[in-house]
Amino acid sequence: MERKSAWTLYSKTELKKVDAYAKAYMDFLNKGKTERECTDYIINEIEREGYQEFGSLMKKKKKLVKGDKVYFCGMNKMLLMFQVGTAPLEEGMNILGAHIDSPRLDVKANPLYEEGGFAYFDTHYYGGIKKYQWVTIPLAIHGVVVKKDGTTVIVNVGEEEDDPVFFISDLLIHLASEQMEKKANKVVEGEALDVIIANSPLPQQSKPKDKEKDKEKKAEEKEAVKKNVLAILKEYYQIDEEDFHSAELEIVPAGKAREAGFDRSMILSYGHDDRVCAFSSYRAMLEVNDARRTTCCILTDKEEIGSVGATGMKSRFFENSVAELMNAMGCYSELALRRVLANSFMLSSDVTSGFDPLYKSSFDKKNVAMLGYGFDFCKFTGSRGKSGSNDANAEYLGKIRKIMDDAGAMYQMSELGKVDLGGGGTIAYIMALYGMNVIDCGVPVMNMHAPYEAISKADIYENKKGYIAFLRNA
Ligand SMILES: [Zn+2]
Repeated sequence: MERKSAWTLYSKTELKKVDAYAKAYMDFLNKGKTERECTDYIINEIEREGYQEFGSLMKKKKKLVKGDKVYFCGMNKMLLMFQVGTAPLEEGMNILGAHIDSPRLDVKANPLYEEGGFAYFDTHYYGGIKKYQWVTIPLAIHGVVVKKDGTTVIVNVGEEEDDPVFFISDLLIHLASEQMEKKANKVVEGEALDVIIANSPLPQQSKPKDKEKDKEKKAEEKEAVKKNVLAILKEYYQIDEEDFHSAELEIVPAGKAREAGFDRSMILSYGHDDRVCAFSSYRAMLEVNDARRTTCCILTDKEEIGSVGATGMKSRFFENSVAELMNAMGCYSELALRRVLANSFMLSSDVTSGFDPLYKSSFDKKNVAMLGYGFDFCKFTGSRGKSGSNDANAEYLGKIRKIMDDAGAMYQMSELGKVDLGGGGTIAYIMALYGMNVIDCGVPVMNMHAPYEAISKADIYENKKGYIAFLRNA
């Protein structure tokens, strides 16, 4: 089948639109490096466009009617948007779903220690990473520390020009002959991903003259670098060592998203997976105000670790929120809820692998997405014999193809890679449990789950075009 690069089809005016959309996306990437930051960013944007938090709206208003825009926020890490359509809700919704968590290193509950003159944060990695990619690069710390009195301290260090950054060391090549013999998954092990956060000791307070004071001096010298860090944390954040017990601090690559290539056709950044689909999903929701069916956008957390927990897709948060929505529309019953869910259509968005010519033997070239050739649909994902996959229905795919072609959205149809090499899961199979039609789709990514991933500006532009058409016409 002949395939075309999306870039060959753009007029000068459209190229400007592609670029403007990419710039907006890069701003989102720079300000949303954690699921909490993404949630904050998106709430600010959608409130400006008329979305209201469901709970507070219900205090003012009794009934939801067509055109109303509401959102539900789960624990500051998961977001659901709904716009009520003109068709009866029981006919089902048009749902876009993506995830806003990305692979990273999480700070442990007792993280702080000193060794060999350095203070460290001990970490536990989150999601699937090649551990050796995370050493010797500048890192930033993002997150929250919640104190016993309930106050939340927001931490964001390493992103501004004059902020300090943090790093993980690696053994110098001159001494690495043994290390270089190791398998890639053992070269840098999980417990070696501890982040260097300081190297200078706390300035000494006492001036010991006699033997008695000598003891005091010794005590001061012990773990003086760690003490220095604690003093700094106290000064800047008013937190103590025990406060790490109730913290969520994430170590992510420091720095901004950058245009890539002489032609500036790509974006190199941390966290494309899956903020790229999340961005297009909520932006498409903001552009569609005339859909017949009720539209919905799910931005979930915890996808990278199996969609678990209260803010993951396996929780009841989505189902409970739809029940609340129906109640506020005056049409809730258990049976009606089941019908709404079963009759819904969903694009379950997540990034897919983009073809990498340097590793071509890992892909089936006929069935892999190419960067710059539009966004992508995967009928099925899964591993080996499609294990764990949501295998989308052919009838549904036929309908989707028509919607995309009518809207002129460029898309590809692919699989992750060669059949026996591996695989991956998304949230599609979880939503399919309701009996709704779901298909995986998303943007092709190169170096998926690496500290810096690459995508094409054309693909995100086509992606949003496709989402808008889906919300309107599915
Ligand atoms: Zn993903």
